[in-house]
Amino acid sequence: MLEKLFGIFSKKQFSYIESSTLDLQKDLISYPALAIIRKLKSSGWDAFIVGGAVRDLLLNVKPKDFDIVTNASPHQIKSLFRRSRIIGRRFRIVHVYVGNDTIEVSTFRKPNVSNSFDSYGRILRDNVFGSIEDDVKRRDLTINSLYYDPISERILDYHDGISDLKKKQIVVIGKIKERLIEDPLRIVRIIRIAAKLNLTIPRQLKNVMRGTGILLENLPKARLSDDLLKLFVSGKSLQGFNYILELGLDKHIFPNLGLFSSEKKKGSANLKKDGFIYSALKNLDVTVGNNESISMSFIFAVLFWEKISRLKMSYVEQGVSDYIGMQRATSEILQDINQNFYFQRKHIAGVRELCLLQTRFSKFLGKSPFSLIRHARFRSALKLLELRVKLNEVKIETVVWWDKFHKCPDGEKIQMVNIMRGKTGQRRSSKKRKKRKLSST
Ligand code: ATP
Ligand code: MG
Repeated sequence: MLEKLFGIFSKKQFSYIESSTLDLQKDLISYPALAIIRKLKSSGWDAFIVGGAVRDLLLNVKPKDFDIVTNASPHQIKSLFRRSRIIGRRFRIVHVYVGNDTIEVSTFRKPNVSNSFDSYGRILRDNVFGSIEDDVKRRDLTINSLYYDPISERILDYHDGISDLKKKQIVVIGKIKERLIEDPLRIVRIIRIAAKLNLTIPRQLKNVMRGTGILLENLPKARLSDDLLKLFVSGKSLQGFNYILELGLDKHIFPNLGLFSSEKKKGSANLKKDGFIYSALKNLDVTVGNNESISMSFIFAVLFWEKISRLKMSYVEQGVSDYIGMQRATSEILQDINQNFYFQRKHIAGVRELCLLQTRFSKFLGKSPFSLIRHARFRSALKLLELRVKLNEVKIETVVWWDKFHKCPDGEKIQMVNIMRGKTGQRRSSKKRKKRKLSST
């Protein structure tokens, strides 16, 4: 009885907003999400789109994914959808498949129960079903705790998320420090979401993020890497990376990144305009903005290039070839970084390839240039070559030569190689002449 009364009382604090009074872009809702909600509701359950999708719809941004929450249990959800599967260890959710789409449907869940934290204060268990009022408390940000029922066209806004969204500010639900300690990944989520949507991170929140950043070192590598990858492909990687630097999080996220001071603006933690990494991230954001495909290996190769390149130089100075030097440097640096950062095998292989391909850009003769331009990673490798001009490692003329070489017709290609042979061949033949002279004496 008391619980019921409390329920009524607590519900009164929540505001229900007719979505028609807001600028919510209904046509950006995916058909599968709508269909699932319709089915759940017609079966007597409550069902909402929740989290980032509602936030994005209100900002006229196409949501990346649609998360649905309901008061039906995983088994009840599963029984409604023929093409569905219960997944998850820590928390059981249901994947519902509609056409080629997979939509995550979860049951309302309670925030942590007692004794479910580790010695750092991090959540260990997060798997108790609850009511919508419970569910809202476990969400990270006010703008991520909006529940939208597209059938009744109402939004439940438990934490004034809509007002924060209008103010374009990030507000953490509950006590900031506690919430960041409980799950330090939220630090990266805040950066990612603020960068993606041009939202402000208030100074006080930034201070807490700076202070709790060290906890990122204890996060499971795969979890941290997943969210960082999302940041890099968000189209706002430059802003996001600058936040990471400004808040001193780089040393916790990539302890071995060893960003060179030449990359940073004087007297500031931010990236220097037109530096190597600045330019790479800027180009990356343009590529994402144009909906062109991007390569994660390329991003990693850029981030770690300076370290790899310097180590390679030291090997070359010891007398090994460019190729062997590069091979050794790439393996060592990647192994070192892999201790803190989770790389998929394909990304490691990709970074290695991109670095090794750099050594082939100085070979203009014979079959080498022809096979190089046919390499699957040639374009990415050329992009990296172009960026290296910023580090004075490569002359712009070399980049122009390769760009022209891969675009021009075959006949012209042969001509270009012949011209190079003319230039370099003279030196060769004089060497050969010297050799002959020596052998005849
Ligand atoms: P994106 O645009 O990247 O999808 P998102 O906020 O939707 O951003 P999701 O990972 O899809 O991120 O998560 C969906 C929702 O789940 C979030 O909006 C938030 O309410 C909740 N959530 C996700 N991760 C956390 C977390 N670490 N702590 C608390 N709530 C979280
Ligand atoms: Mg989402």
